[in-house]
Amino acid sequence: MKTVLSGIRPTGNLHLGNYYGALINFLKMQEEHKCFFFVADWHSLTTHPDPKMLHENVRNVLAEYLACGLDPEKATIYLQSDVPEIAELYLLLNMHAYLGELEKTVSFKEKARQNPNNVNAGLLTYPVLMATDILIHNADYVPVGKDQEQHLEMTRNYANRFNHKYGVEYFKLPTPFIYGHELIKIPGLDGSGKMGKSEGNCIYLIDEPKTIEKKVKGALTDNGPEAPNTPKPDYIENLFTILKVVSTPEAVAYYDNLWNTGETKWYGKLKKQLAEDIIQVTTPIRERINDIKNDDAYLRKVTRDGAEKARESAGKTLRDVREIMGFKMF
Ligand code: AMP
Repeated sequence: MKTVLSGIRPTGNLHLGNYYGALINFLKMQEEHKCFFFVADWHSLTTHPDPKMLHENVRNVLAEYLACGLDPEKATIYLQSDVPEIAELYLLLNMHAYLGELEKTVSFKEKARQNPNNVNAGLLTYPVLMATDILIHNADYVPVGKDQEQHLEMTRNYANRFNHKYGVEYFKLPTPFIYGHELIKIPGLDGSGKMGKSEGNCIYLIDEPKTIEKKVKGALTDNGPEAPNTPKPDYIENLFTILKVVSTPEAVAYYDNLWNTGETKWYGKLKKQLAEDIIQVTTPIRERINDIKNDDAYLRKVTRDGAEKARESAGKTLRDVREIMGFKMF
């Protein structure tokens, strides 16, 4: 069993892409590994969120992840800001993080360019905080997207630098989590390659059935196949990609057959089926999200228990690190 760590950004709602591309894998991961999932609320401070909004965003993401099946009995689920050990290790690691390398980080350069009036120290040292999140539990694996690969590489650098500097083999060098299967990419309904928040083409898990029907109805289509057995254009293939994850193989075969025989005028039916099947997947999740979101007692219990477990693990690392660096009890 390996230690796996994954951060959760307290921004926005989960969409079908997040669900099939990440969440479903997390559910399997928590069965097989020692998993830590944390809400990265300190990380979100770089953009100075309104305090009330911050709290509501944390409540939202927590409710959504729990509703999808993250299980506090199986995994350690906590808020970053509930674990002060992270702040101390961050301070210690910052002494080994150099301005030159931090300034060169792609995400820093990008954010600094986008918001030239808010280039704060927290933004600069974001990769150090991320390294701390990982190293505080001495994680083996981190499920990272492409945009986070450089941060993980920096984490390995810091771990290596620490080990080398103090002549120890204390920190493991964490690597990307390998799923052992192709990751599913959920496309947008607008003909674009990817469903994503910034693309504005998402079906959210909290969308009401009526909203889902409307969004699916508006999906990009055409007049139908021009001849039998022609390849599908991307935007039609996209609908089939989503159909494959939410519907039965029989339904997929049925519409595939309609395409291949060159028939037309069945897109309305396909969209109706697609909307119905998406609604079937999302309805129980949406209902759980709404229940959990309004259950302060449950959220309090989950975060308290999670913080306790996370602090136990983090405290051990911090005690070791202090000792290694020369902070010893008299
Ligand atoms: P984001 O919502 O962009 O922060 O993405 C969080 C994670 O969700 C990513 O690292 C991916 O694993 C997953 N994800 C996001 N969008 C999609 C998508 N359209 N298809 C599959 N996975 C996705």
